[in-house]
Amino acid sequence: MKVFKFGGASVKDANAVKNVGRILNLFPNEDIIVVISAMGKVTNALERLTDAFFYKKENAADVLNEIKQYHFDIVDQLFSNKQHPIYDELNNTFVELEWAIEDDPTHSYNHEYDQIVSMGELISTKIVSAYLNEANIKNQWLDARGIIQTDNTYREGRVDWELTQKLSENLSQQKGITITQGFIGGTSENFTTTLGREGSDYTAAILAFTTNSESVTIWKDVPGVLNADPKWFDETKKLEQISYQDAIELAYYGATVIHPKTIKPLQNKKIPLYVKSFIDPNEKGTVINEIQSPLPIPCFIFKVNQVLISISPKDFSFIIEENLSDIFNLFAEKQVKVNVMQNSAISFSVSVDNDERKLPDLIKTLQKDYRVLYNDNLELITIRYYDQATIERVTIDKKILLEVKSRNTVQLVVKNA
Ligand code: ASP
Ligand code: MG
Repeated sequence: MKVFKFGGASVKDANAVKNVGRILNLFPNEDIIVVISAMGKVTNALERLTDAFFYKKENAADVLNEIKQYHFDIVDQLFSNKQHPIYDELNNTFVELEWAIEDDPTHSYNHEYDQIVSMGELISTKIVSAYLNEANIKNQWLDARGIIQTDNTYREGRVDWELTQKLSENLSQQKGITITQGFIGGTSENFTTTLGREGSDYTAAILAFTTNSESVTIWKDVPGVLNADPKWFDETKKLEQISYQDAIELAYYGATVIHPKTIKPLQNKKIPLYVKSFIDPNEKGTVINEIQSPLPIPCFIFKVNQVLISISPKDFSFIIEENLSDIFNLFAEKQVKVNVMQNSAISFSVSVDNDERKLPDLIKTLQKDYRVLYNDNLELITIRYYDQATIERVTIDKKILLEVKSRNTVQLVVKNA
């Protein structure tokens, strides 16, 4: 068994969907689980729909119509037969969604979010599966919620590995092509959960693990994993091979090519992960596997819009264990992720994303017991396999406010000088 994952960009319009068919045709007679995300930016649109439903931010019916229109445009281009059952199937799905948002919310925001936002993947897989069957690429559609079981931590479902393993038994024996959804799972009470934004990679890794697949391939609009995001860097280089350990570190520090939770299950079973271009499927791409050697060149990860918060006891005493546990608890409770931290005798500093929904509340709470200074509009630069010359090169015209070094990685919080 192989697992393929196609993200939103690889199914963003009719041509992209056709290209999925071309790629699958390169692997005749193979057993493949194909994990697919919502089309294009549909997950963002469904988030808007959830907000419209829950907070009445905008007219929910309008947002739903946009989403409907986008999908039917694609379907119209893919199917010449306007009587094709996919039309009824999609109409029914959208009617269900309409009903779901007609009444007032009955569950928590996160719970409602998952029931609505998961529709993106259900719809995209229905369309792709029907199109491929029509194009003679025979496949089975599979509801991932019947396999991937999670607890009820909505929006960040935690996988029940034992149960998921059990439910994967048939799937491991499945012949030919199986089309299923990324990003979503099911609870013991039959509610839908999601695995966190960009979670489809993780789905691919979970299914590869439970079915003992030989490999996972993530098909992307880039030639492989690059040593920096081309959005921030002019001269990027493709990495041929990356160790699991380096991949975990890069994803952890915020490289967006691969979802951070993806690597560990693959590493445990030594399943290689290929990142390849869906535009040039015959090019080699990048492989993440068991090699031990460090990367040959420095890798850069940029995070913009950072806030550096410096926290110290009001009575000028030292920062000690009780303060730290208190502070960490608050960050966990307010769900603010620490990107880098540094401790000194009288203060504790962290850099975090400037999330307007979470940060003001956190700072207000901290201020009850601590003196809190913060500095916004900063950048966090992480360099894996740094040397002094590289540090100097990326910090030209910048002022370094915080620097944390380990043997292989340096993190710099900087501000334009
Ligand atoms: N569609 C989901 C998202 O955009 C999952 C994914 O694309 O991996 O977050
Ligand atoms: Mg997506």
